[in-house]
Amino acid sequence: MKKRLLILAGDGIGPEVMNEVKKIITWFNKNKSADFEITEELAGGISFDKNGTPITDKVMEIAMASDAVLLGAVGGPKWDKLEFSKKPERALLRLRKDLELFANLRPAICFKELANASTLKPEVVSDLDIMIVRELTGGIYFGTPRGVEKLSNGEKKGINTHTYTTSEIQRVARVAFELARKRNNKVTSCEKSNVMEAGLLWREVVEEIHKKEFKDVELSHMLADNCAMQLVRNPKQFDVIVTDNLFGDMLSDEAGMLTGSLGMLPSASLSGKNKDGKFKSMYEPCHGSAPDIAGKNIANPLASILSFSMALRYSFDMDKEADMLDQSVKNVLRDGYRTQDIMEKGQKKVSTSEMGDLVISKLK
Ligand code: NAD
Repeated sequence: MKKRLLILAGDGIGPEVMNEVKKIITWFNKNKSADFEITEELAGGISFDKNGTPITDKVMEIAMASDAVLLGAVGGPKWDKLEFSKKPERALLRLRKDLELFANLRPAICFKELANASTLKPEVVSDLDIMIVRELTGGIYFGTPRGVEKLSNGEKKGINTHTYTTSEIQRVARVAFELARKRNNKVTSCEKSNVMEAGLLWREVVEEIHKKEFKDVELSHMLADNCAMQLVRNPKQFDVIVTDNLFGDMLSDEAGMLTGSLGMLPSASLSGKNKDGKFKSMYEPCHGSAPDIAGKNIANPLASILSFSMALRYSFDMDKEADMLDQSVKNVLRDGYRTQDIMEKGQKKVSTSEMGDLVISKLK
């Protein structure tokens, strides 16, 4: 059966890094009969320039009908002054909202070869492989009431509300437990149950789901502030961390930086499963459109390539092919090839397209 991929390369370095992903998809189609069918559309600033909107309804329809969306990056100084509803980043928010992508998966993997790029000691981060599952569509970023009120004494009051329902917690916890089963079978759930009622509910619901459905997975709870400390003290103690939108935003950035380079960090966002077991998904690098280096063929395409590897693993159950691709990336790094962002003395500097070609040569 055809696997329908929607590619939204976006702005800045988006098209450059996505070009390397397309080469890899073509390789899998040719050599592994993977049967990927690619549709390419516009999103972000480039869509605004052509259609007056960061993403059109037609593109949203294609996204809804696709098996997975691959996104490059959106945004740039050219569109910075647009009103909020027209900004390139709105494309991302609409995709997340309409596809109901409530689980954001951000792995922090530190390849042994790049351990020196981290600000932590190499022995603390070398071979690190953890996964942060962040709830993406609830919590304080979406809760109401929200806004800024004027008080009678002339002061202003800013209001945001942190809310979570049982089902919102259950569905993201399930994603974390299921992922752990495919990895090292350990989940750490993070909240602030010591000071927040919603945090206490989070802990209770995760505990309940664990007891009912995932007894085989090891579960521990940790306060989010302690988790922030443990991530820099001893990150290798973790396998899967599940947490809410706000704490996940911070902990995933912190964990990402353990690995040293923005150009190496992939991500996935997933919806819940329907009764046929199907779900929606979007895969994208964690970095932005890097306008400072766009058009120079020097951006690191590995975050996007590793995002495609996540698509193989999570949307298409192609674990063997995903392992192959991950291993090819490792082998290229082992052989000393580096784009400029991860360049170290004594290594061989390569361009964006050369890096893509090298990964393909290792697949072979
Ligand atoms: P950025 O991630 O684009 O760049 C930060 C720094 O990292 C820059 O120096 C850049 O050159 C470097 N960098 C990023 N990706 C790289 C790669 N693959 N290879 C080599 N170097 C890389 O963040 P920014 O500069 O804050 O934002 C630029 C634009 O991107 C803004 O318009 C912002 O809104 C947008 N943005 C989009 C997304 C997204 O599409 N998901 C995410 C973050 C920022």
